[in-house]
Amino acid sequence: QPDPTLRPEGLPDDADRALRPQVLEEFVGQAEARANLRVFIESAKIRAEAMDHTLFYGPPGLGKTTLAQIMARELGVGFRMTSGPVLAKAGDLAAILTNLEPNDVLFIDEIHRLSPVVEEVLYPAMEDFALDLVIGEGPAARTVRIDLQPFTLVGATTRLGLLTTPLRDRFGIPTRLVFYTEDELDLIVTRGARLMGIPSDPEGTREIAKRARGTPRIAGRLLRRVVDFVLVEGDGRLTRAIADRALTRLGVDHIGLDGADRRYMMLLAEHYSGGPVGVETIAAALSEARDALEEVIEPFLLQQGLLQRTPRGRMLAPRAWRHLGLEAPRPPGQ
Ligand code: ADP
Repeated sequence: QPDPTLRPEGLPDDADRALRPQVLEEFVGQAEARANLRVFIESAKIRAEAMDHTLFYGPPGLGKTTLAQIMARELGVGFRMTSGPVLAKAGDLAAILTNLEPNDVLFIDEIHRLSPVVEEVLYPAMEDFALDLVIGEGPAARTVRIDLQPFTLVGATTRLGLLTTPLRDRFGIPTRLVFYTEDELDLIVTRGARLMGIPSDPEGTREIAKRARGTPRIAGRLLRRVVDFVLVEGDGRLTRAIADRALTRLGVDHIGLDGADRRYMMLLAEHYSGGPVGVETIAAALSEARDALEEVIEPFLLQQGLLQRTPRGRMLAPRAWRHLGLEAPRPPGQ
């Protein structure tokens, strides 16, 4: 089993919270999203209205929750947080909505996992700031409309494609988050080391940034593990040598792939000649959930040009064969 502390989807812990940027100014990366949000936040403040509903989508650990919290802080309004799977009944969501203060931010994580009945409650709430309650049963049943305070819904999803069209269409500000560059991650790691009071060499933080899978949450986790080695086996300074030793011991290779990534690529190489293979087949062979592959493992392999998606399934790219140190099979007829 891969080390859960290295996976981006793990629950945030206290150390995560301490490193979390608090204002838009401190938030590194996502330049385009940040510039747009700045305008929409300022405009909402000038109008003294709730900001438009915002949807963040992209792989786990890229800062969706962090940005939602920053929005509330910059708007100067309250922040309420829940998630799709937690809202089992329509009443659960109605209770939250009726308790919001004017212009509050309501954050719903994993919004693609809302049940259809809960989603129905959301439509009039988003559109008209109203709840439609059904009172009574059978022929005597009637609908009563209750007004809500205006609010901003911020949805987050790792799977835009799983959102229903009516829900998707109700977000005025859909915002895609992308993997971070090495330079951006380096800034995040350097800031994190400083907050932890650990002196660092530029080559040391760079080594972590290089191996963080383009993901701030992973950068934070790797930094904490490296700091453990710095304190116990090093001399208190984060150097390239100790970062490399720690990360190698943790099974993170020089481009940031971990055991789960390599198992995925080796399966395709050794059992399917590099593919194409259907994702269901891969999930069964690895005993992993298909969702976990599509949300966590594949996006980074695709972004790195290690994997290709074709209509007939997943295929290893030439770079993956080189990375594994294996010879790619010749295409038939050559
Ligand atoms: P998501 O909601 O997309 O899964 P989070 O907002 O929970 O991601 O971010 C994961 C962690 O990564 C946070 O605890 C935060 O410390 C860190 N993080 C995310 N984005 C940034 C950023 N731009 N700069 C610094 N740290 C970040």
